[in-house]
Amino acid sequence: MSRPRVIRCAACAARIKPHHPHIGVEDLETGVEFSYHARPGCQIRAAEETATRLEAGKVYAMHHYHSSRCPDEAPGFGCAGGCFDTPMAVAN
Ligand SMILES: [Zn+2]
Ligand SMILES: [Zn+2]
Repeated sequence: MSRPRVIRCAACAARIKPHHPHIGVEDLETGVEFSYHARPGCQIRAAEETATRLEAGKVYAMHHYHSSRCPDEAPGFGCAGGCFDTPMAVAN
């Protein structure tokens, strides 16, 4: 019945492999989740798009999905597996 969900990056439209680290931005009103690659370009896009949606009065929950090989269960940046070493916002 259940087949693997195909996840696409909302920034670059490429497919995200489920075992690769990625970010999910969930609209708490609709349950719709936008997914982004953990790589810097897509993370920046995620931050920008989320900021725009937040300004529109939306409420979001951010999820960090670690690589399947990552030993770190804790969400967030700077994990032991290096999934989210790059900060969301890059200073100039
Ligand atoms: Zn991407
Ligand atoms: Zn990790």
